[in-house]
Amino acid sequence: MQIVKQLENLRQAVDELRTRGKIALIPTMGALHEGHLSLVQRAQKSSQAIVVSIFVNPTQFGEGEDLDSYPRQLEKDAALLEAAGVDLIWAPDVAAIYPDGFATGISVSGVSEGLCGASRPGHFDGVATIVAKLFNQVRPDLAVFGEKDWQQLAVIRTMTRDLDFTLPHADQIIGAPTKREGDGLAMSSRNRYLSIEDRASAAALPRAMKAAIAAIGIGGNVDAALDVLRATLLNAGFNTVDYAELVDAQSLEPLTTLIAQHPARLILAARIGGTRLIDNMAVTLK
Ligand code: AMP
Repeated sequence: MQIVKQLENLRQAVDELRTRGKIALIPTMGALHEGHLSLVQRAQKSSQAIVVSIFVNPTQFGEGEDLDSYPRQLEKDAALLEAAGVDLIWAPDVAAIYPDGFATGISVSGVSEGLCGASRPGHFDGVATIVAKLFNQVRPDLAVFGEKDWQQLAVIRTMTRDLDFTLPHADQIIGAPTKREGDGLAMSSRNRYLSIEDRASAAALPRAMKAAIAAIGIGGNVDAALDVLRATLLNAGFNTVDYAELVDAQSLEPLTTLIAQHPARLILAARIGGTRLIDNMAVTLK
């Protein structure tokens, strides 16, 4: 496994990998956990070479967010990725990605605007721009993202389709299921910020989501189920619920009722002890 930090070395390294067949790219911010490694496993099914990027992208962090404290552990991440069978780590520094004079941004309207887009202004512009750059730098045949960040996946699919990306083509943006801890909490690099007490309370999040999904799935009132969900989280020790909504799985438009055969998602963000957790799950009519 190679670790590349300069763009001029990346091109040659990727060209060598291309001789093996299809290249998969998995963009990450490092601080890797089993969720990230499950993306590697998914990529292995559809490619012959795997590139993982590790870059804590400053432009997707807002004022007062955790850019400075975000965990950085390249050596440990590299050991995990090597053991998982990854071929190349692309780990540029900030100056290599945003040199002096950098002036271009990508903004995806619609799917970027509600939910996390509303509570984290500018976040998805930062995500779309860095992912477009990574796609142009690596030119992968396919790219794997976690369904954990459902809105991010929708933004990237829209961007690659709208801008006619060919490598990867919009059809080759693959979503992989969310990997969870034993108690159901979605794995996240930010879970390590939680105190022992808050970590225990955080298990209420997937539990309360499942209860809301069960209520909505048997035809229960959506607003009432979401009210119960918010109240349950606040009772469990969450400080705030940024949003909790039933949305169309593709457009992310809010839904007030569940329609048979129409894919829907329960999606939410909530804060506990200063840590912002996000999650989403499929909702189907029983
Ligand atoms: P991050 O490093 O948090 O930016 O995440 C990098 C990629 O890993 C994104 O595509 C995430 O959606 C994905 N990811 C993060 N957590 C999980 C998880 N628990 N299960 C599956 N994928 C995940």
